[in-house]
Amino acid sequence: MQRLTKSAPRKSSMAPPSCFCDRPSKLMTAWRDANPGRSKIRTGACVFWRWFDPPICPRSRQIIPGLLRRIKELKDQLRGLKLQDQGM
Ligand SMILES: [Zn+2]
Repeated sequence: MQRLTKSAPRKSSMAPPSCFCDRPSKLMTAWRDANPGRSKIRTGACVFWRWFDPPICPRSRQIIPGLLRRIKELKDQLRGLKLQDQGM
């Protein structure tokens, strides 16, 4: 459901639409759902949000979570090494 204003705003594909609370919306990146890395628009002030990017293709949906897992593993390893380093 998209809100339409009476005075037609200049059409720009980059300008996020305003939501119900009329606060400036922000472009966020989703990482934890079925569309990792896909950008969505929200204000953080209300429940309104909508996708900004087109849907993630099945291949990316399969690969990105694997990459995220790998990053997490490496971060954990790094944290372990730092702790080891501090202990010496
Ligand atoms: Zn809002």
